Amino acid sequence: MYDIYADLHVHIGRSENNKPIKITAAKSLNFANIAKECVERKGINLVGIIDCASPYVIEDIENFLKTGEAYEIEDGGIIYKDKVCIILGSEIETSEINDEGKTGSAHNLCYFPKLADIKAFSNEMSKHIKNITLSSQRANISAYELIDIVNKYNGILVPAHCFTPHKSFYGNCTDSLRKIFKEKYDRIPAIELGLSADTFLADKISELETKTFLTNSDAHSLPKIAREYNEMKLDGISFKEFVMALKNENGRKIVKNYGLDPKLGKYHRTYCEVCDKRIEGEAPVTKCDTCDSRNITMGVYDRIEIIKDKEKTKSPAFRPEYIYQIPLTFIPGLGGKTIEKLLDHFGTEMTILHKLSNDDIEAVVGEKIAKNIISARDGKMHIVEGGGGVYGKVE
Ligand SMILES: [Zn+2]
Ligand SMILES: [Zn+2]
Repeated sequence: MYDIYADLHVHIGRSENNKPIKITAAKSLNFANIAKECVERKGINLVGIIDCASPYVIEDIENFLKTGEAYEIEDGGIIYKDKVCIILGSEIETSEINDEGKTGSAHNLCYFPKLADIKAFSNEMSKHIKNITLSSQRANISAYELIDIVNKYNGILVPAHCFTPHKSFYGNCTDSLRKIFKEKYDRIPAIELGLSADTFLADKISELETKTFLTNSDAHSLPKIAREYNEMKLDGISFKEFVMALKNENGRKIVKNYGLDPKLGKYHRTYCEVCDKRIEGEAPVTKCDTCDSRNITMGVYDRIEIIKDKEKTKSPAFRPEYIYQIPLTFIPGLGGKTIEKLLDHFGTEMTILHKLSNDDIEAVVGEKIAKNIISARDGKMHIVEGGGGVYGKVE
């Protein structure tokens, strides 16, 4: 067994023949480029591409396999250059009704072992989704129904960015995942924390004590891949090994979660839509301290204060360490050119953020930038919290 790095939430912008998949994602984000970026730049060994149920993407995957550059394996997943395993995924928005009878919507990450499985899933979901070619589309079914369809095609379901205000279970639908999934709750092996939350916040909710936490990038462009990732102990890279790690089976597990300081996330604190500002103050903030308006976008930090059922964070024994990382793009003084220079020298962002010494970095980009990178690593930078769709800032 050995440790690998995994990012299980990467979007596709366009198909190879330039059909839009996710409108807000970069055009360069296609299936082949993601595989290459993971191998050449990011040091990612397991990547979940989350728009693979689009028939246009399925066509791209079939063509990619025909080139012989990549191949599907028996245990599930597509291997590229013997270095990265691509997990075929689909993000589905479900329609939920909360305790008060209001409607909400939540994103679900669905992962499948084989191309044939996700093809069959795509075909069935086209009955529930208006435009199956686009990313993260709303289905007219609930997650309680969706999980059966996912399991039917040998897949697993993981609630996505679980606490974000607009499209998530805790943010938008419920104070308890168990209420949504009922007797099927144990079929969910993991949840995704999202950029605005971390282990310390999520482990204030006791029903999550049996779930593995995933830290993924939700990347909409190539450079953002691996801004959050998971270190996993596996015996080879495949869908089967990935699922075993989520279930903590036979020594497979997540060893470490690497994620943003949640203060940097764009939904960390509550935001007033009238005054257009992040609201300071003790959580939970539920109305504006300036104009008194309740026209707010609830922060993840504030939402967890409302729904938590533990006074203090208490993590189960198996919970891995959560390590904060500040991606290069957040570090003051680092423009595109400097980042390019660092990557050319040192290969991957992971190496730069976690492994290099001050002297190594200084030799390439000078004293000031080296100091900033090391201070960010040591948690010595001041962070202005994010909210309302605006990322936090490092100062
Ligand atoms: Zn989403
Ligand atoms: Zn206000």
